[in-house]
Amino acid sequence: MSGTVLDVTGTMLRVDRAGWEAGIDAVAGATPGLVPVAKGNGYGFGLTNLAEQTTRMGADTIAVGTVFEIDPVREAFDGDIVVLTPWSEDFPATDPRVIPTVSRLGDLARLAAAGERRRVLVEVQTSMRRHGILPAELNVAAGYLRALDFAGWVIHLPLSGAAADEALGLAGTATNAHPGPLWLSHVTAAEAERIGERTGQPTRLRLGTKLWLGAPTTYGATSVVLDVHRVGKGERVGYRQKKAPGNGHLVVVAGGTAHGIALEAPTPAATWRQRATAVATGVTAASGRALSPFSIGGAKRRFIEPPHMQSSLVFVPAEVRPPQVGDEIGVTVRNTTYLPDEIVFD
Ligand SMILES: *Cc1c(COP(=O)(O)O)cnc(C)c1O
Repeated sequence: MSGTVLDVTGTMLRVDRAGWEAGIDAVAGATPGLVPVAKGNGYGFGLTNLAEQTTRMGADTIAVGTVFEIDPVREAFDGDIVVLTPWSEDFPATDPRVIPTVSRLGDLARLAAAGERRRVLVEVQTSMRRHGILPAELNVAAGYLRALDFAGWVIHLPLSGAAADEALGLAGTATNAHPGPLWLSHVTAAEAERIGERTGQPTRLRLGTKLWLGAPTTYGATSVVLDVHRVGKGERVGYRQKKAPGNGHLVVVAGGTAHGIALEAPTPAATWRQRATAVATGVTAASGRALSPFSIGGAKRRFIEPPHMQSSLVFVPAEVRPPQVGDEIGVTVRNTTYLPDEIVFD
């Protein structure tokens, strides 16, 4: 008896290395003071790959989201590591390469009182209202900086609205309280330059999405077809014994909830076009018959039932030629929630 031998068995992110790196280099070249951001699932590429890219582009600093992400980048990058989430008491023991972001006045007082001249970034509260010291309290904050090794002010702006004007105003307030570099998020390179000129301070710009995901034609998700079965209309299939919607094929594809497939982050979809995209990429909650993100024969096919942990059941109608076991098919994913089994650089 001969079994089926599959070269690849799961889900992949295929990356055209030369194209992807060219895109990164174009953004890096146009962004003085760039601080690459590597957090979460590494924007689909994994934290280690992003740390390697940061080394390759010659940046002196990388930013990670949480303390848990320090170790995965530390091996592949030997510059400074900024942690974006606010410092708290459980921050790991002092490492001269790791720069915490201090976002509360009480924390700043505690670090200053420790007398270790810790290197710190200090976050200014913006209209995001997420973290940071209120602008009215920055003079008090400045009083603590003599006892610390101050690396600069952090200003993280919302994605919409008048980010640049707000950043300029806050940068002025902060640098009047105490001069220092400005670490900005979500302004353009040109806006950062203007803020630097107006305040007379160096600026750093933290970038993730635009840097890693800026050349979307250079990477893509694929899944392997694990099994194909002929089914008749009304035949019951799957965990939930749903009726097949017609004559055709039931295709078992690698990729399910464990890979972040057919999951959507809660709606950043502000427009109808974005909402339509969310539906097209297969929102699990919509129904058991939602359009799946798997493309077969040039179109997205319906789920027969909601995806499982590691595989999905999709229906291919009789008029469409079914794929073969071992075929690799395209999948539409959201890169910040996708956890492929393998990242393959072609
Ligand atoms: C995640 C994050 C960034 C990077 O955001 P992108 O939109 O992915 O570029 C920048 N600054 C801060 C503070 C962040 O948390």
